[in-house]
Amino acid sequence: MRPVRLRYTYELLDSLGAFRGPESVLVDPRPATEAEVMTVHTQRYIEAVRSLSSGASPQDAAWYGFSNSGDNPIYLGMYESALLSAGASLVAVEQVVDGRVSVAFSPSGGLHHAMPASASGFCVFNDPAIAIRALVDRGLRVAYVDIDAHHGDGVQEAFYTTDAVLTISLHESGRYLFPGTGSVDEMGTGQGVGYSVNVPLAPYTDDDVYLWAFQEVVPPLLQSFRPDALVTQLGIDTYFSDPITHMALTTRGFVKAVELLAQAARSIPWVALGGGGYDLSAVARCWALAYGVMLGQEWPDAVPQEQQARLGTAKLRDESPPQIPDYNREASRRFAEATIQEVQQRIFPYHGL
Ligand SMILES: [Zn+2]
Repeated sequence: MRPVRLRYTYELLDSLGAFRGPESVLVDPRPATEAEVMTVHTQRYIEAVRSLSSGASPQDAAWYGFSNSGDNPIYLGMYESALLSAGASLVAVEQVVDGRVSVAFSPSGGLHHAMPASASGFCVFNDPAIAIRALVDRGLRVAYVDIDAHHGDGVQEAFYTTDAVLTISLHESGRYLFPGTGSVDEMGTGQGVGYSVNVPLAPYTDDDVYLWAFQEVVPPLLQSFRPDALVTQLGIDTYFSDPITHMALTTRGFVKAVELLAQAARSIPWVALGGGGYDLSAVARCWALAYGVMLGQEWPDAVPQEQQARLGTAKLRDESPPQIPDYNREASRRFAEATIQEVQQRIFPYHGL
């Protein structure tokens, strides 16, 4: 989660000329206010983050999910940087609800694991949940689609009991990957039953299997839910060479999924967030391509000369899919089919499908 991944993305887009045209505008982030963070997190947790961030003794740190040996290390200034990435996603919300743009991309956001009273999985403040809350507070029905390789557990948790927010997470099954949750039977409770949707997939899931599963679930649910706004988490740790997950997407599968999300957001505001992704070249190239989809622009395939060494390739798009043994390909297909059948049987009836 080193910030250099955002710098590579920005610099690649800049060299592609992404910010030169009138259709694109760069907007500065602002820190989220404490009141905004408190729409999702407890005051005690916010205070703990603030005091750990300024060097207080880490006595209770583990209680709040922090440790210097795990996913959530304590570092000086983490409170300010977490406020800034939550605030960036709120700026994205403001841009789209005020009608200044139809889609806003906040690549430092998408920190979907943070819980009300603890940090988790590299995430301190849950900016997707904070952004969704800001939209709901403006009276909007919100659909959230999370295509990160990990289950969007913190966002699911934040809206588990309401039907005002539909959350859909496609991810590598919790049997194989952190955080271990995200099975189809986590469907919401009370008013929210049927409004938390999980699509667990197997290791080695490739573009074709992924896109099939996506098409089976996401467009019909969005059409039936009829959201007023779409929030997406565009983690790209589903990528075949990602070092911490086991899925097998390429630029083609990722971009197609983003195109389908863009279609769903045709006539409603769209807040696009970043997320995971630990192959630095894949992160920069995939998010640059995703930004092209948002602008309705197809970038040329050549990576600008000065970026080629750092990205390890001269091409923006992958040319050949990864080699997957037949046995694994077949197993991932059967896994996806079983998941989709379960979603259709258990969730679709709540949506008249
Ligand atoms: Zn992830």
